[in-house]
Amino acid sequence: MFRCALCSGQDVRELLLIDHPDRFEQSIGIEPKDYRRSWVECLQCGGATNVLPEESSFRLKKLRSAYYEVDFMGSDIGEKYHRVMSMPAGKSDNAGRVARVMDFVRRWSGAFSLPRIMDIGAGTGVFLSRLVDQTGGAWHYLGVEPDPRAAAHLRQLEKFAVVEAMYLGQTDLRGFNLVTLNKVLEHIEQPLPFLLQVIQSLVPEDGLLYVEVPDKLTARLRSPQDNILGSLHCHLYDLTSLGQLLRRAGLELMCVNRVAEPSGKLSVYAFAAPAESVEKKGLPHE
Ligand SMILES: [Zn+2]
Repeated sequence: MFRCALCSGQDVRELLLIDHPDRFEQSIGIEPKDYRRSWVECLQCGGATNVLPEESSFRLKKLRSAYYEVDFMGSDIGEKYHRVMSMPAGKSDNAGRVARVMDFVRRWSGAFSLPRIMDIGAGTGVFLSRLVDQTGGAWHYLGVEPDPRAAAHLRQLEKFAVVEAMYLGQTDLRGFNLVTLNKVLEHIEQPLPFLLQVIQSLVPEDGLLYVEVPDKLTARLRSPQDNILGSLHCHLYDLTSLGQLLRRAGLELMCVNRVAEPSGKLSVYAFAAPAESVEKKGLPHE
């Protein structure tokens, strides 16, 4: 029986049926014969869940922490980094993301003297690098990245501190004013316990969380072969499902929005904060 990992709802309808293994599944030997995978939508919270064949789900577990091995087959993370960093701001998803985050922080967090930011799942490091550049290096920046090849690349940049690890709520990863989850939560099967750990990393009275995830509309508006709809993504969100999830985690939802990014990706993002932060600082200024 289906149970939504976001809200425990049990009623679903199918959004999209996929009848061919994607490149990640092919890389671990999943056969195309009789293959069926479906994206289903929870009728209670509106969140979407990727329902994989058992064999595929089992074998993919090993791949999840090191998917850059497949993602960057035949290419180089450093090369991708330089290509994306050289994009003009108007064409870069990351430039838009940095602008969103900086704008919110500026309007809300005047009290941050020297903000400490942790980016979980730093990936190629483009987001943190642009943030370092645009804040003149005046904050404390940390990237957490489990993939060994991506982490080695991040260290080589020498732009911010790097922890090579899967984020599991480690006690030495606490005391941050801003935690960012850029296209991370969709990889997590059980996002609620994960978010509860992330909240422990925030300074309770002066902390902010930024979450950005693929929009559920991707299933309707983009091709079924779109990477976003691939086997490594567990959930897609809309405004309601992301907002409700953050509230279930005990956060005050400050803002939730959807956006078509320059690359064509459809995304939902939210800013949320512990109640103590909101009580102390109120709402962001216009
Ligand atoms: Zn649900």
